[in-house]
Amino acid sequence: MKALLHPDLVNGRTGDPALFLDFQFARRAFLFDIGDLHALPARKILRVSDAFVSHCHLDHFVGFDTVLRLSIGRVATIRLHGPEGLIAAVAQKLAAYTWNLADKYAADLAFVVQELHEDGSRRRARLRLRNRFVAEPLDPPDLPSGCLLDEPALRVRAVTLDHFIPCLAFAVEEARHLNVWRNRVEAEGLPIGPWLGPFKQAVASGAPDDTAIAIDGLPARPLRDLRHLVTVERGQKIGYVTDIRGTEANITAAGELLAGVDILFCEAAFAAEDAAVAADRGHLTTREAVEIARRAGAKRLEPFHFSPRYADQDDRLLREVREFFSGAP
Ligand SMILES: [Zn+2]
Repeated sequence: MKALLHPDLVNGRTGDPALFLDFQFARRAFLFDIGDLHALPARKILRVSDAFVSHCHLDHFVGFDTVLRLSIGRVATIRLHGPEGLIAAVAQKLAAYTWNLADKYAADLAFVVQELHEDGSRRRARLRLRNRFVAEPLDPPDLPSGCLLDEPALRVRAVTLDHFIPCLAFAVEEARHLNVWRNRVEAEGLPIGPWLGPFKQAVASGAPDDTAIAIDGLPARPLRDLRHLVTVERGQKIGYVTDIRGTEANITAAGELLAGVDILFCEAAFAAEDAAVAADRGHLTTREAVEIARRAGAKRLEPFHFSPRYADQDDRLLREVREFFSGAP
């Protein structure tokens, strides 16, 4: 599989949670949680189109100001997705500043914030610089249940889990990739040109064999004669889970959301022997992170959000994860 999405933990396995997901062929990126972002170059932050916030504990949301500071006057829209309360949290952050000069900025900046509530309902609001970041209600998007983003190339789904407060876990799923074999196209004397777009679209949508495919400047041909010019590859699935209690209900729900995941970023805040502390704080142990990875059938598990109590003991937690899961780093 050719990976088009490249995930990177901004602060490694121990610092504030923030997963930067870069798109290979687009000036675009996602952020999962907005912890401290000082380690992330400005040019990367400016690529973020969508940020997914698991919950608003300080270490998951403190970097919002960095995004705001860099984006003013340079970015048109940033979408934020998170649990109930996110609209108020964003509005309150923005309300802390004085915006009397808002109309002097050359460009507007809008945060479009979508909340996914525990009962599956949604709320959405837009907060614009030109309107001094007052929350303006928007109709919720018409999306399938649990889906936060649904585009032709990918979708992002979420489930509400329990961290003594609602906390979202996320799954990014790419659509199948279609790769055109340029050498085969040329070997058949066909042009490399605009016709390849609708042709790929026909393959992707499952069009029947006798569908006529127009070819730039040449007679149309049935799809069956052209199928060998493309290969279809499964897209990547990437999961992000952090700050949840190690309950059976959480582990089951996370495992279902993340079924078949290629790379799972999952908190493993505490060592297995500190399960009582983990339970008290509403976090996972290494063993519980492994259990989610197993239930999901994850190919790779990237544990993170190690508690500061294990400073300089990354190896110890990694060893525990590896002991029970072969797809660990
Ligand atoms: Zn938390």
